[in-house]
Amino acid sequence: MAGADFPALAERMRAVLGAGGVLTERAQLRTYECDGLAHYRVTPALVALPETGDQVAAVVRLCAEAGVPYVARGSGTGLSGGALPVADGVLIVLSRMRRIVGIDIANQRAVVEPGVINLWVTREVAPHDYYYAPDPSSQLVCSIGGNVAENSGGAHCLKYGFTTNHVTGAEVVLPDGEVVHLGGTALDHPGYDLLGTFVGSEGTLGIATEVTLRLVRKPEAVQTMLAGFPSIEDAAAATSDIIGAGIVPAAIEMMDALAIEAAEAAVHCGYPAGAGAVRVIELDGPQAEVDHQFGQVEEVCQTRHAFEVRIAADDAERALMWKGRKSAFAAVGRISPDYFVQDGVIPRTVLPEVLARISDLATTKGLRVANVFHAGDGNLHPLVLFDEDVSGQAEDAEHVAGAILDLCIEYGGSITGEHGVGSDKAKYMGRQFTAADLEAMHLLRCAFDPAGLSNPGKVFPTPRLCGEVPGPRKGAHPLHEAGLAEVF
Ligand SMILES: Cc1cc2nc3c(=O)[nH]c(=O)nc-3n(C[C@H](O)[C@H](O)[C@H](O)COP(=O)(O)OP(=O)(O)OC[C@H]3O[C@@H](n4cnc5c(N)ncnc54)[C@H](O)[C@@H]3O)c2cc1C
Repeated sequence: MAGADFPALAERMRAVLGAGGVLTERAQLRTYECDGLAHYRVTPALVALPETGDQVAAVVRLCAEAGVPYVARGSGTGLSGGALPVADGVLIVLSRMRRIVGIDIANQRAVVEPGVINLWVTREVAPHDYYYAPDPSSQLVCSIGGNVAENSGGAHCLKYGFTTNHVTGAEVVLPDGEVVHLGGTALDHPGYDLLGTFVGSEGTLGIATEVTLRLVRKPEAVQTMLAGFPSIEDAAAATSDIIGAGIVPAAIEMMDALAIEAAEAAVHCGYPAGAGAVRVIELDGPQAEVDHQFGQVEEVCQTRHAFEVRIAADDAERALMWKGRKSAFAAVGRISPDYFVQDGVIPRTVLPEVLARISDLATTKGLRVANVFHAGDGNLHPLVLFDEDVSGQAEDAEHVAGAILDLCIEYGGSITGEHGVGSDKAKYMGRQFTAADLEAMHLLRCAFDPAGLSNPGKVFPTPRLCGEVPGPRKGAHPLHEAGLAEVF
């Protein structure tokens, strides 16, 4: 907020967090100026580093009293600019809150602080033969708080569901500083599903300070297959055939030739040479079921012209098959100086058609697109390659990335499968939703955050004021007229 007294606010925060818990030096603040979507950068006015839920509540209360906006940040790996700071606001970084508060194996629950890294949960419970199922490719570094805010997915979400299916409770600091408990340890609660509302709300409804997670028992058997196909069409058709046959693999991931080239250059994963597409398919469950279904899957692949099918003989081979896929985003840096990671969803049956149109879009701008997908979910991750140093290429790449989202909408899909709307896609929300839909969402937001201080400017295309009457807007928005907001 323009005109806020940040030195005074920093002083008040130091009284709560100690001298080391508040950053105000420009060089320190710049460390936090972006998340994984690095071409958007904003330096926050100050950074708060709380260590407990009480401290988070106190910091949020101070922001509310001063009318200062704030943004929560976990590990900063988000790809939609969700943790992008506000220039005249506070960035509340949760990375000092990394305690695993409790594990209850008998009831299959773990209670963790929001800064806990996704993979740590599985590591903690692995000796008991349990794991935490949602596995974003960034799971080595991303935080549970970020996962909750983004309703993150991952390769195994096809069978096991997204983060929302694995969170049963959360302690949340609301934007006025009040602490509430949503859900609990049980799977369902009477009344409105406020926990379901909070999961995926991208930091706009408050800050999670403790999360209760569902743990899943390790399956008796896991088998992983790598299949090389001559074309993306064959690989896509095989995906539909497998699911059409009533088999729900734990994961079906796909990469096209350009993504394979990048992964080979980066991690030498040994994927089949000359493949137009590869798929990593994993089945898990009781041994007898996995054995039976694995044979069926192999048959489908061969019918769809797979020219090489490899079956992982042990954990090391399985890990190598996954390494290529899990490192695909970063690997693209080997073949292009810059790239946009796009995230959209389409019905998986139209995959070949949409990919052909994406390729046409890129060709008209003289650009290349590498494709990596959670194929079973129809979740595309086209990586639009460009070179910032070539005049106009960044703009062209942004245009192609946006046109890909239009395609997703045209085919009945969605502008995001798992990376969230954040700053990046707010302007596309109006293409997927009607004005009435957006007003309804906005009213919900206002019930949690009437002052609009929690992660403002994210998710919604045009900021609205909570007192405004909902309904189709006539004429210009007051904030637009005042030059304070952009209408997309
Ligand atoms: C290489 C790479 C691979 C990726 N693969 C996947 C993938 O397979 N699947 C997938 O879904 N995503 C993936 N991502 C995206 C990203 O890792 C996820 O969105 C992740 O959940 C972000 O977690 P974070 O801790 O980094 O959150 P941040 O980036 O710090 O924040 C993300 C959002 O969460 C909010 N937030 C953070 N903590 C809290 C909190 N405690 N309470 C309320 N709001 C909070 C922030 O305000 C922001 O809006 C990938 C990213 C990279 C870089």
